[in-house]
Amino acid sequence: MSTPALKIYNTLTRKKEDFRPIDPAKVRMYVCGPTVYDYAHIGNARPLIVFDVLFRLLRHLAKQGVWDGGKGETKVTYVRNITDVDDKINARAAESGISIRELTEETNKVFQADVKALGCLEPTVQPRATEHIAQMIAIIERLIASGHAYAADGHVLFDVPSMPSYGRLSRRSLDEMIAGARVDVAPYKRGDMDFVLWKPSKDNEPGWDSPWGRGRPGWHIECSAMSWAHLGETFDIHGGGIDLVFPHHENEIAQSCCAFGQDVMANYWMHNGFLQVEGEKMSKSLGNFVTIHELLHTEKFGGRKWPGEVLRLAMLRTHYRQPIDWTVKALEEADANLQTWRRSLGNVLPDDITGAADERVVLALADDLNTHEAIQVIGSTAEASSSKVDLANNLAFLGLLPHRYTRQGYREATERISRKFNVSHLEDWAAKWNKFAASPKNIGDLSEIEDAITAEDLNVRIEARNAARASKNWAESDRIRDELAAMGIALKDNADGTTTWEVKR
Ligand SMILES: [Zn+2]
Repeated sequence: MSTPALKIYNTLTRKKEDFRPIDPAKVRMYVCGPTVYDYAHIGNARPLIVFDVLFRLLRHLAKQGVWDGGKGETKVTYVRNITDVDDKINARAAESGISIRELTEETNKVFQADVKALGCLEPTVQPRATEHIAQMIAIIERLIASGHAYAADGHVLFDVPSMPSYGRLSRRSLDEMIAGARVDVAPYKRGDMDFVLWKPSKDNEPGWDSPWGRGRPGWHIECSAMSWAHLGETFDIHGGGIDLVFPHHENEIAQSCCAFGQDVMANYWMHNGFLQVEGEKMSKSLGNFVTIHELLHTEKFGGRKWPGEVLRLAMLRTHYRQPIDWTVKALEEADANLQTWRRSLGNVLPDDITGAADERVVLALADDLNTHEAIQVIGSTAEASSSKVDLANNLAFLGLLPHRYTRQGYREATERISRKFNVSHLEDWAAKWNKFAASPKNIGDLSEIEDAITAEDLNVRIEARNAARASKNWAESDRIRDELAAMGIALKDNADGTTTWEVKR
């Protein structure tokens, strides 16, 4: 089968188009990243997962030489920014009584752990807004010089009527935008739709010196500056959630096109659909706000923790442009699927993977990222007993086979547990590995055991059980044994009166 051409739906033209990079030697993609003031929610998880799948697909097609005549040397650059200067950040830091730096560092740390758990690869670059102030100022200066922006009262505003094609992405006229938008009225604004590029900072607010006094950037200018710095004046793909089309992406286009004298900022604009929770709009006031962190680490939803790959599969079962209704039931279904697939993997583990996904999976993804179809293919490879390697390859290609389910991950977890518990039972882990390899349905459970129990815990429980046995309290002794069994720890009462334990097969 020949390598398929990539087709993507372009919000700019409202059409599915063949993807052709500006430069066959490089594919350049920018996706709007998080504002780091609070935990990312599942609405934020969707673009992270969707554009990670696209990144994986672009890298695969680049290796196939789809764009450089078979050489396979096209470089794929994926930029996802971190917004670390924003009024929401200032407000939250003041509320919590910590510094802005502490808040953004801590929030970013949790964000990075969340996206890793969701099976996302690291983007090529994750630029921070605060490290691109010079580029923002340079763009604003160009906009003023070319008559597209004006300074007033320490503010600099983009002059929307100066750009006749403004509204091209969202397909709204200026009148419609004014009628539909919540327009901030301010004495320094010439036009209702003019938006802030730069604003003055009070002494207690973060600020940088600029030709317009000490101040800070507006949100939209950050993305124009960071995409310019890392991808150039024009690039190939710009992605984000559908809620960003207007005004954020419209304003990015206005800034970049007018500053650089280009017709387009990016040739292909991709947007993932809305997300609801159990049939309702997600909002803090409705009390149905779901963060990635809580899903991964608490039992708040459906009474259990959810591994990242379950969230990922639940998300990818719906095509990225469709709206998605996020439910606990959908997580349960995704979890059941993953368990079935892992069972059918048998003892084929990713050391056996060749790295090539099933061509049908690639074909489905190349058709505007049809993950729904790709997952159907995975389902059918899982049913065919002859294609275990295909199944493992396909799961890995979609980011659905986490490291802990690989041989390497298993070895690491076993070594960690041996070290942590300092017990001799796991020192012969190499021998044990052979047993596990013959029964890989347990692989991956090790990390849960690791999280659930500490050596102290274990010893305390074993002593409590010994005490119960000594006083012939068999019910209590059985209860403790069962509790440990539920965590995957099997106790063994030895002839010499000692109790040892091992991780259950
Ligand atoms: Zn952006």
